[in-house]
Amino acid sequence: MSKLTDLTITAAREGLAQGRFSALELTDAYLSAIEPAGDLNAYVLTTPEKARAMAQASDARIAKGEAGPLEGIPLGIKDMFATEGVRSTACSNILKNFVPTYESTVTAHLWRDGAVLLGKLNQDEFAMGSSTESSAFGPAVNPWRRNGSSQPLVPGGSSGGSAAAVAAHICAGAAGTDTGGSIRQPAAFTGTVGIKPTYGRCSRWGIIAYASSLDQAGPIARSVNDAAILLRSMAGHDPKDSTCADRPVPHYEDAVGRSVKGMRIGIPKEYRVDGMSAEIASLWEQGAQWLREAGAEVVEISLPHTKYALPSYYIVALAEASSNLARYDGVRYGERVPGRDIVEMYEKTRASGFGAEVRRRIMIGTYVLSAGYYDAYYLKAQKVRTLIKRDFEEAFAAGVDAVLAPATPSAAFGIGEKSGADPVEMYLQDVFTVTLNMAGLPGIAVPAGLSSEGLPLGLQLIGRPFDEETLFSLGQVLEDSAGRFPCPDRWWE
Ligand code: GLN
Repeated sequence: MSKLTDLTITAAREGLAQGRFSALELTDAYLSAIEPAGDLNAYVLTTPEKARAMAQASDARIAKGEAGPLEGIPLGIKDMFATEGVRSTACSNILKNFVPTYESTVTAHLWRDGAVLLGKLNQDEFAMGSSTESSAFGPAVNPWRRNGSSQPLVPGGSSGGSAAAVAAHICAGAAGTDTGGSIRQPAAFTGTVGIKPTYGRCSRWGIIAYASSLDQAGPIARSVNDAAILLRSMAGHDPKDSTCADRPVPHYEDAVGRSVKGMRIGIPKEYRVDGMSAEIASLWEQGAQWLREAGAEVVEISLPHTKYALPSYYIVALAEASSNLARYDGVRYGERVPGRDIVEMYEKTRASGFGAEVRRRIMIGTYVLSAGYYDAYYLKAQKVRTLIKRDFEEAFAAGVDAVLAPATPSAAFGIGEKSGADPVEMYLQDVFTVTLNMAGLPGIAVPAGLSSEGLPLGLQLIGRPFDEETLFSLGQVLEDSAGRFPCPDRWWE
């Protein structure tokens, strides 16, 4: 038998049901795999005692024939999720001692279905970034390396710890969040599958807020089917989040393996951005060919406002962030640095609690919302957002079932390579991912090939609102054609 930690969720679920191993054995296997993997810096907190207690409770339920859909499956959780009694920091110093007294709805759904908490995963501070380098706990490291090189690479971001942990087999699957690509880009950088569902599919309640009109939770997993299993548990109506949709959650696994014959796949010509590398372009063409071979029809489409997505995203997201982060004032939440008077206390608290990228974003966000610039920037960006959404609506109305695009403009880059003086270098990472968040649409990233340097590359499928099922069906076609991408060299073990 292969190592327990090498089993997908799909396979582990079967092994548990057949009694081939216990939930406690599976959890212990993960806990021992986490220990030597410190160099990946994927976990910012592990909860071994809680994990073992949860696993024992799972074994008891399995014995009674009361197993839930995720019974005994050990998961890691991005530190954006509030977990009751377990420190939750958003990887910011301002929340470094925050222990929530409540559980986020999404994680509560996972525990309801029997999953086991291994610990909290590294991320960019407040999910602001594309590399996990802005974490107050230091960068997470990609398990993948370039051929013949030991240079540490980023696992993407902001859910970089989640993606690194899934790729390194130090959790069976992970929960992430995606405001502008934070699930899909790290998945693409690590050879894993990540889906950002439709805005409103998962409850945002108890998730530390970055940009409320864009934030969505979703899974990172080792296979399309595993992602389908996880999303089914995470999703669902929640009266505590008024933007959470009150509609039934499909049994997503049923869509995995369903025929895609006759589906129409749009290839947006505007995504052929200047300077796109030849290997990304050919990966994209290869993906279209695989879908054609599976019986889908591939057509060129136009999404004319694409080029405005990135700049307008970085106005809307930062405006909302400046407002959401106003709550960290040293009074109600988090750390406090005393001052002579209340104003100085605010200033000192916020200056010392937030890292450089977060401070930059609060300043930009405050600026675009200020009386003098509101119309020029924020209002304009909101209008552009409507146009971006309309582009997709028109494509779907013309009969397109899903859109195929690259997930990222490049493979994983080196730690420090894009975190220099110009923040725009990093923002450009999000060129293919932010459009969906602006439009509220679901998107899945599936690994589809390797770069010339031996690093994983991902393709992205974008679907109609609440049609994650089509994405799972198409995603499985890509997985069947490309194969899976386990990390070839486990240098950290
Ligand atoms: N990289 C994007 C940003 O920094 C997206 C982050 C995210 O999706 N949380 O805003």
